[in-house]
Parts: sequence; structure tokens; C-alpha cells
Amino acid sequence: MMHVKAYHRPQTLEEALRLLQSEDTVPLAGGQQLLGDKQREAKAVVDLQALGLDRIEMEGERLRIGAMVRLQQLVNTFYGGAFLAEAAHRDGPLTYRNAVTVGGAIVTHDPLSCLLLGLLVLDAEVEVQRSDGARTVALDQLVVDPAHWVQRGLVTAVMVPLQMGGTAMTVVARTPRDRPTVAVAARVVRRGEACAEVRLAWGGVAPYPLRAYAVERALSGQTLEDANIEAAVDRAAEALQPRSDFRGSAEYRRAMLGVLTRRALWEAWSKAA
Ligand SMILES: Cc1cc2nc3c(=O)[nH]c(=O)nc-3n(C[C@H](O)[C@H](O)[C@H](O)COP(=O)(O)OP(=O)(O)OC[C@H]3O[C@@H](n4cnc5c(N)ncnc54)[C@H](O)[C@@H]3O)c2cc1C
Repeated sequence: MMHVKAYHRPQTLEEALRLLQSEDTVPLAGGQQLLGDKQREAKAVVDLQALGLDRIEMEGERLRIGAMVRLQQLVNTFYGGAFLAEAAHRDGPLTYRNAVTVGGAIVTHDPLSCLLLGLLVLDAEVEVQRSDGARTVALDQLVVDPAHWVQRGLVTAVMVPLQMGGTAMTVVARTPRDRPTVAVAARVVRRGEACAEVRLAWGGVAPYPLRAYAVERALSGQTLEDANIEAAVDRAAEALQPRSDFRGSAEYRRAMLGVLTRRALWEAWSKAA
């Protein structure tokens, strides 16, 4: 367990950002990863609980989800089979979901997080506050290298446009409640018999959750067919180097990517009708 050198609980964002400028001082959200990390040097922590970042609100045509919203809060709010609830539910058991925050999940950019895959296909954007000002970064850019964007600042919210189309999440794991070996999220907007818009995100095949842009481009404007999907996935997968570990070999991951992508796209297509 990490040794905490000092504990701060600021009441305002300005105070939190000021505290974070000091050496060896890091944000504390749900603590799931941070506090359990034995490798970390002793740190001063800035607890984000009192900053009012735990709200889910409508903001025009999009949903604004505060960085301190817990995964279980998403499950409760969107209860009834909604895509975001399903994605958050898939990420871990109740104790995990009650601790982990949306901001913590984004900054940790875990490649197996179904929540992040879901947010990616919904074209989510992330609000980052730093001492040099606020900015909005597309989630697909931020997850590649969160440290580059966040620096000594904070993720304060994720914005999710109310999207059209059908969505689906397909997963393969060693057991039904295990973390995924490979996971795929898809969103399809239909125009007649063709895909007007395709969004696809892959988990478990790269060091972070990955938007499959090449496959999206190949399928946009096309009629969905197994042959098209397989050809596009095979081409895109050539550039990937999935790792082999206790959950599955690289070969297994590659093979599952094709199967899960096909299933996710067809399910999203049928829901988009
Ligand atoms: C034992 C263990 C089990 C896990 N199991 C799963 C799992 O089942 N499914 C899954 O998807 N992932 C899992 N993970 C990884 C998971 O992604 C993180 O644990 C979780 O997302 C962290 O969220 P948190 O709110 O607890 O963040 P914390 O642990 O509090 O923080 C994590 C990191 O993010 C930084 N941070 C947190 N919030 C912010 C913010 N708003 N702005 C800037 N920086 C911030 C912290 O400083 C820290 O570096 C696991 C990790 C561990 C250690």
C-alpha cells in the first residue's frame, strides 16, 4: 500500500490546482489504483471529494459527467439496459464500482475498461483544468497519453453527446464475471441499407483502449457484410501487437477481435433500425 505523506481536502478547484503544483503531490479519486500501488513513492494526496465533481447533468445536447462520479452512480442513473450503465457495470463488482470514479478510469486508461470503450464510441470529450487554463480534449486523443494532457492538472468532467444509432458491447473473458480478454464496443447509424456512420473501439489489443479508425472508414457508407468486416479488421489488426498473458495469447486475441467486432457491429446495426 502506498504510504501517504500528507492529506489535503480542498474545497475549491483553484485550491486543488494550487496544491497539485507541489512536488510529489497527486490527485486522489476513488483510490482503487493509487492507494494500492506498492511501487509508488510516498506522496501527498489531494482528495477531490469536496469539489462538487460528482454530478451528472444535461448541458444542451450532451451529458456532462463529473470526474468524481462513481461507476455505480452511472449504473443507477442509466438503469434499464442503457449502454453507459451496461459498460460501467461490466468493469467490476459492486465494491469496485462504488469506489472507482470516471476521472480515475480515464486517467488510468486501462485497456480493458468497457466504460472507456463505450465512451469512445459515443465520441466523448474530456474537460481538463490546469493552472494555465481549461481545455477540452477528445477522449480518443487523451487515452493515448493522459499524462501529456493532464500534467499537474485535473480531469474535471467527461462530456457525452446524445448520439444517434444503435450501440453494442461484446466481450470474451475466462469466466462470465472476469475482466475481459478482448472487448469491442460499436455504434452504427443507418441510412437505408448502408452504414451512415460507424464507431468502433477495441480493448485488450493495445496498451490503451483503441479507436479502430481504419475499420470505421472502411465501413462508413457501405452495406454491412461479414466479408467487408473481416477484410477491414484483418487489415487493421496487422498493425497491432497484442500481448500474450494469463488471459490469452496474442493469436487468440487477434482471432477474437474479428469475431467480437462482427458480433458488435451486427448487434449495433439491428438496434439502429
Ligand atoms: C487491484 C486493481 C483492480 C483493478 N480492477 C479493474 C477492473 O476490474 N476494471 C477496470 O476497468 N480497471 C481496473 N483497475 C484499473 C482501474 O482503471 C483503476 O483502478 C481505476 O480506474 C482508478 O479509479 P479511481 O477513481 O479509484 O482512481 P485513483 O486510484 O484514485 O487514481 C488513479 C490515478 O488517476 C489519478 N487521478 C484520479 N482522478 C483524477 C482526476 N480527476 N484528474 C487527474 N488525475 C486523476 C490519480 O492521481 C492516480 O494517478 C484495477 C486496478 C487495480 C489496482
